[in-house]
Amino acid sequence: MYKNLYLKKGKDESLRRYHPWVFSGAVHHIDGQPAEGECVRILSAEGDFIAVGHWQIGSIAVRVLSFDDEKIDAAFWQRKLRLALDLRLALGLAGSERNTIYRLVHGEGDNLPGLVIDIYGRTAVLQAHSVGMHVCRQEIADALKAVLGDELESIYYKSETTLPFKASLGQEDGFLLGSPTDSVAVENGLSFHIDWLKGQKTGFFVDQRENRSLVENYSHGRSVLNMFCYTGGFSVYAMRGGAKLVHSVDSSSRAIDLVNANVELNFPSDPRHQAFAQDAFGFLGSMGSDYDLIILDPPAFAKHRDNVRQALHGYTKLNARALAKLQKGGLLFTFSCSQAVSKEQFRMAVFTAATLAKRQVRILHQLHQSPDHPVNIYHPEGEYLKGLVLYVE
Ligand code: SAH
Repeated sequence: MYKNLYLKKGKDESLRRYHPWVFSGAVHHIDGQPAEGECVRILSAEGDFIAVGHWQIGSIAVRVLSFDDEKIDAAFWQRKLRLALDLRLALGLAGSERNTIYRLVHGEGDNLPGLVIDIYGRTAVLQAHSVGMHVCRQEIADALKAVLGDELESIYYKSETTLPFKASLGQEDGFLLGSPTDSVAVENGLSFHIDWLKGQKTGFFVDQRENRSLVENYSHGRSVLNMFCYTGGFSVYAMRGGAKLVHSVDSSSRAIDLVNANVELNFPSDPRHQAFAQDAFGFLGSMGSDYDLIILDPPAFAKHRDNVRQALHGYTKLNARALAKLQKGGLLFTFSCSQAVSKEQFRMAVFTAATLAKRQVRILHQLHQSPDHPVNIYHPEGEYLKGLVLYVE
């Protein structure tokens, strides 16, 4: 069985409330020296069993896989993946021809800390954020194939940028099963090219699905600006919603190629769409006041707690620029995906932006990540995406 890890006295409290992490400062000692990524049994100072999890060097020493004293084997992975799939089936996101893009496993939200699996048609993209999940990648891939069966042709492993740098891990991206398949997948009846080999995250921002649908609902007859467009998800939905025109902006020319390809795939030669490879602040500063629906979905401004202040300043500046230019009666969809920035802090940054822009602003919707990115109630840190829909007079 696994090596025993003993906690310091009183350091079992958060685990008793099912929080899935053990910080290194809470560890008293381990019987023996586990290899990084190995499973350990977590025991209280008094010797009571608490949980089993993946051990690694770093501030989070253990990520809990089970609060039962069990073996983490093929049967365990299959059971967990089946539970994850059942939820996506219940949500109507899996098993549908109209939607072949969904997140199957969202780390702590699926009680599998350190693991992300996104499904794009017949391809799964598996991403490890912990050494333990990296070590288990082939076992997880085998379980995934067993659970999804013929619906799955290939599994791509994409963890070069998400694992802590360890020369000895050999964390190369590549196929764990099959080879490249058709890279077009479908979200709510709209088609997208997915670049899982070189794209950001696992190739697509699956977490904005419901928010894109909301943009579609409000787009009729509007002039839409999709700022930080990346693959152009919001743009394509706005076009289906009957927007008068849609402008997509991203500083990366690769993103502009992607958005153009995705618009072409759904609305060939549609003159309503134009894309611009430009910096957001420059574009917002020099553009006119013609837009009456603006989407701001920037990259995470704060990756760590240390730069929250700077990030909040960035959100204020960005939103003030957009609010100043939005037409009367316009809508602003504004987001933050920084985990370190709270809902309240983000709202305060947007509040400050509204006062700077001297506009009358009302909140219509408060948005969050899609339901296939569930938040474990014992791990509130998992709630990372927040958004506001503002009505601006
Ligand atoms: N809204 C997108 C996801 C945005 S990801 C979606 O729904 O899929 C953030 C994007 O912002 C990236 O594509 C990145 O290239 C772009 N970006 C980063 N800094 C930027 C800047 N200063 N100006 C414009 N775009 C920027």
